[in-house]
Amino acid sequence: MADTYRMLSHKLLWHPDVLAKWRRGEPFFPVHLDIGATSRCNYRCVHCFYDYLGHRRRDLDREVLLRLMRDIAEHGVRSIFFASQGEPLLNPATPEAIVTADRHGVDVAMSSNGSLFTPEVAREILPHLQWVRISVLARSEEAYCALHGASSRAWRAVFDNLAAMSETVRRQGLGTVLGVQTCLLQENGDEIVPLVRHIKELGFHYITLRPISQLPTNGYRLEDDLLRRFQEQLQEAESLAGEGFDVVVRWNLHGGGKKEYDACLGLPFIAFVNADGGVYTCGCRLDEEPFCYGNLYDEPFPALWMSEKRKQLTERAASQPDFARCDLFCRHHAINQFLWEYAQEPPHVNFI
Ligand code: SF4
Ligand code: SF4
Repeated sequence: MADTYRMLSHKLLWHPDVLAKWRRGEPFFPVHLDIGATSRCNYRCVHCFYDYLGHRRRDLDREVLLRLMRDIAEHGVRSIFFASQGEPLLNPATPEAIVTADRHGVDVAMSSNGSLFTPEVAREILPHLQWVRISVLARSEEAYCALHGASSRAWRAVFDNLAAMSETVRRQGLGTVLGVQTCLLQENGDEIVPLVRHIKELGFHYITLRPISQLPTNGYRLEDDLLRRFQEQLQEAESLAGEGFDVVVRWNLHGGGKKEYDACLGLPFIAFVNADGGVYTCGCRLDEEPFCYGNLYDEPFPALWMSEKRKQLTERAASQPDFARCDLFCRHHAINQFLWEYAQEPPHVNFI
């Protein structure tokens, strides 16, 4: 199976300068930020990771968002991902923030449910995005509407929008990579093959099929034996890869497992900006004050990140992780695994 975009592991190895600073204990800005421009969502997906927080009405102010874009560019943050608690395009400032960050040299990506990704929006922001990932749980109208908590109108709009995105990329000769993410649920196993076939026909670059992220506080519970139950469908889906289209089944995320590290060492490399302006350690601790480094409404990101409070919180959260409250395959998981091994330096390292 081709994994062109390296979704099955991590890319920290391509940042040796930052790794070297980490090894020497020197301060550095994170390589990446996840940004929740809003916590509102026009969908109510059955599996939503953030359902336990509700989708309260909180948008990052335009001025705060644009200042953040300029500040992170100036201080060497290399990439940002608009995602998190809500649908990013519900915040009217998101497109301008994307364009601003890109023009200042930051790599930008976003995830979306696709319902608001109209052809006009596509023409405006696709030239400024490295990649886009649309969450789609089913091809059929009935299953789509039931699983996403969406209307028939939204179902039609999403597939029309996906076609327009693909057309925009093709016509403008953009390098933007278009992907779909589908979470495997007990309700959508039979939707997989028709969906994968359709996404390929639309000219997207890939589809990834993965288990859902879950916290103990999430309302939805996944049944256990989905891989076995839908193995045939997943293998048929994989067989549709080719002609510039990847099908990435994230087998490595399925089926139990545990965190094989004792410390969450990846925290300094990735941080989360929430729709309330809070900057948090990770996506599993949003809205939790003890895991909030500070707030962008009170101080700009560079001062917040270099503060003693942020440093101490990172060290405390890293050394005393409460894995019982963590998503097993959280955003930091792959770099945590790598950094844990890297930190256990064996004798005679020069004998490579
Ligand atoms: S589109 Fe995303 S944020 Fe909105 S309900 Fe669905 S999973 Fe949650
Ligand atoms: S291991 Fe736990 S604390 Fe660390 S980033 Fe993942 S979810 Fe957060």
